[in-house]
Amino acid sequence: MTTQPRPIYMDHHATTPVDPRVLEAMLPYFSEYFGNASSRTHEFGWRAAEAVEAARAQVAALIGADADEIVFTSGATESNNLAILGAAEANLRRGRHVITCMTEHRAVLDPCRALEQRGWRVTRLPVEADGLLDPARLADAIEAETVLVSVMWANNEIGVIHPIAEIGRLCAQRGCLLHVDASQAAAMLPLDVRAAGVHLLSLSAHKMYGPKGIGALYVRRREPRVRLVPVVHGGGHERGLRSGTLNVPGIVGMGSAAAIARSEGAQVAKQLAALRDRLLAGLRARVPGLQVNGSLEHRLPNNLNVSIEGVEGESLIMGLRSVVAVSSGSACTSGSAEPSHVLAALGISPRLAHSSIRFGLGRGNTQEDVDRVVEGVAQVVARLRAMAPDAPPSAT
Ligand SMILES: *Cc1c(COP(=O)(O)O)cnc(C)c1O
Repeated sequence: MTTQPRPIYMDHHATTPVDPRVLEAMLPYFSEYFGNASSRTHEFGWRAAEAVEAARAQVAALIGADADEIVFTSGATESNNLAILGAAEANLRRGRHVITCMTEHRAVLDPCRALEQRGWRVTRLPVEADGLLDPARLADAIEAETVLVSVMWANNEIGVIHPIAEIGRLCAQRGCLLHVDASQAAAMLPLDVRAAGVHLLSLSAHKMYGPKGIGALYVRRREPRVRLVPVVHGGGHERGLRSGTLNVPGIVGMGSAAAIARSEGAQVAKQLAALRDRLLAGLRARVPGLQVNGSLEHRLPNNLNVSIEGVEGESLIMGLRSVVAVSSGSACTSGSAEPSHVLAALGISPRLAHSSIRFGLGRGNTQEDVDRVVEGVAQVVARLRAMAPDAPPSAT
């Protein structure tokens, strides 16, 4: 029997595998310690509640928060909805204006649209050609009625890192709240919500080697105390901000993933930056007509997003499917023929946007993987170009 080797996984912006240490930490909470963390009358509940509180402290430590500022949710999508809809609803007296950025994830853009449908004004700031938000544009957009600014820490498609501390200072000066979707940044960058002036921050466990279906929202409780109106109503869990029986194994997994990211993140980031640079150098040497999308300097160490002239991204990715698992545009919008809204916001033509490919490196990747991927891309690009009638310079 012959078994095809599995393709190399380089789609870590879509999701990451669960770290074996995380899985091990979770397992007892499915069976042995299966209690409901809200059960106050017996040991089963106490054990679960203790584990939840330990995980809450671990998640808080990753971002420089206090444990009582962490609300567990089902993921970053829910955290973003709670932050945006909840802060808007709680601050109606200030006004009905929110500001976000054109390159945000759908999980931020869509709740903003929902506000718009309820009569709010939404300003969607453009980005510069390198994908970065210019704080001066934000300064111009903030009004007396602005309740909330929502800007991601790092972008999930092109990996660019926004100047969050500067944005935080602006929001503090002008008295509006700052929400940051840090789903992609948490495993890779040191985050300090206080130093950066962040009021609300979304996290997703499955983007940091934890399980899917669990996330957290940081809600600042001091200087200032941020008020939110809940989106999910019920038993009053999580201080009334997010009702529903707690996902204890998921929470334990998220805590463990956060602790690992805190102790090993810097080392992993260094290692992945070296791999990413090797990938880029290899592609540049082997594939003519390659362009990097977004700033290389202000970028997550594990991200590379390139467009390859004259090559259809989907065809390239299909041609590579036995070699490497990657995506074109964002996983959440793929399946639609629309070019990525992120690349469009950078002023990249629909043609080049359709030629884009996103590499998301992760802890499991090696130098050998990178070299195999470079070889695979060079071969498939050469083949596709040979087939195209108006083929630009051939590769290899
Ligand atoms: C993955 C991702 C989300 C969605 O997170 P879920 O936990 O899957 O809901 C939101 N924002 C960004 C930037 C992401 O990368």
